[in-house]
Amino acid sequence: MSMNNQGRPTDTGETAPITPDFESYSGHKGLRLAEPLIHEIGNAESSGVDVPDCGDFDMALGGLQRSGKMGIPGLPEPDAVRHYTRLSRKNYGIDMGLFPLGSCTMKHNPRLNEKMARLPGFADIHPLQPVSSVQGALALMEELSHWIMTLTGMPAVALSPKAGAHGELCGIMAIRTALEARGDARQVILVPDSAHGTNPATATFCGYSVKSIPGKADGRVDLEALKSALDDTVAGVMITNPNTCGLFEHEIRDIADAIHDAGAFFYCDGANFTAIMGKARPGDLGVDAMHLNLHKTFSTPHGGGGPGSGPVVFSAALADHAPIPYVMDVGGALTMKEWKDGEADSTLGRMTAFHGQMGMYVRALSYMLSHGSDGLKQAAEDAVLSANYLLASLKDVMSASFDGPCMHEALFDDRFLKDTGVTTLDFAKAMIDEGFHPMTMYFPLVVQGAMLIEPTESESKGNLDQFIRSMRGLALEAKAGKVERFKGAPFYAPLRRLDETQAARKPILRYIPPE
Ligand SMILES: *Cc1c(COP(=O)(O)O)cnc(C)c1O
Repeated sequence: MSMNNQGRPTDTGETAPITPDFESYSGHKGLRLAEPLIHEIGNAESSGVDVPDCGDFDMALGGLQRSGKMGIPGLPEPDAVRHYTRLSRKNYGIDMGLFPLGSCTMKHNPRLNEKMARLPGFADIHPLQPVSSVQGALALMEELSHWIMTLTGMPAVALSPKAGAHGELCGIMAIRTALEARGDARQVILVPDSAHGTNPATATFCGYSVKSIPGKADGRVDLEALKSALDDTVAGVMITNPNTCGLFEHEIRDIADAIHDAGAFFYCDGANFTAIMGKARPGDLGVDAMHLNLHKTFSTPHGGGGPGSGPVVFSAALADHAPIPYVMDVGGALTMKEWKDGEADSTLGRMTAFHGQMGMYVRALSYMLSHGSDGLKQAAEDAVLSANYLLASLKDVMSASFDGPCMHEALFDDRFLKDTGVTTLDFAKAMIDEGFHPMTMYFPLVVQGAMLIEPTESESKGNLDQFIRSMRGLALEAKAGKVERFKGAPFYAPLRRLDETQAARKPILRYIPPE
């Protein structure tokens, strides 16, 4: 039994039973509080507000007024606060612990960003305000554009796309617009087999047919295979760099030359820009269009359906085809360049109703300015160092998919689980019992049972060591045949194994009250 410095026992030395042999009367399990749906606990009558009776009045809706109840749940304020707080505690987030999803960059969201985004001059403005009254916000967009263009070495940027996938759409639409402008009816987009699913989806959505390019044994694009697939039907090639195996495509310049020699455009998926931020500029690598995920690289909140932002940078060849609106300086006054009849014919048009996610621009610029250019470079270096620390600390007990160091994420596969009866999914579920969100599973598709781990620059060595201890412990237990710990996992989550296929295919999104 261990004691703290006041002599109180901190650990009874006994392992708590996984399933106690009693049920609580309340349905709660200690601090894990049960919580029904708000529709089950609330109704209009249980609201804490006494609304005065509106008495007799003449209805002006000509009989079209609602006669039944609206069915909106109401709760007294303390119960409403408790309801949402309890729900939030069932969730896992970056503010609770290490969030090792690879290809997602779940880095710390600095509180400074939040403070800046809440400044009334940014938070309380409306896109339909006269531009003369939002000069500060437009100046911020200008400044952010400047940082993005400088970091990427590209001459133009469109801030408006609202996610990485939306940015891909923007980039491929710009490529299509450029090809149409030169009367070139190319039909094919080439995508490596390790690509994120949004790449082929984007190309297909834009009306292209997708051809897959195989990778080499070292996890990188096969340049010769790419060259032989390039011809005058190819509109563009979408390549992720660093790629989804966590590796830098070091033949990127030759790839870009081959694409351009074939008269096609090079779309780079910049979701992994974290690893090269301040170190390499896509503009120097021959890229024509690339999105940045502000919610990955630039620390804006990510997940939970929070607003994403996916600015796209363009080369000189595509700059004229970038979408509207964009900020323009007209004699010292900033304005939004919008569509005007007969003008701007070369642009691909508009990606969003207004100008994009203002709150995310503020947060991203806050991250950039608080780091400075040297700090951003160090963030990239630290992210790569952290991933290599994990790789080096785990590769004797797990199976690293490729030789050599990685960029900002470490890729493992399920060879180390061979003949143990434990799958990648079981392993991920056991991580939940360890108090960690699982890593990215089964992606990229090019390795069997993939486990892609991205620690980011914002985890301390202590946090990484704790994670490594858990991962090593689990790997050794799996190899020692302790299958139950994995097959039954998670034991400590509010709900155990869910039917995820059913949940994805037949999600129940509406509450239907009992008859
Ligand atoms: C995250 C990601 C995307 C999509 O970005 P969203 O912002 O989630 O739409 C595309 N490609 C790669 C490689 C990614 O990791």
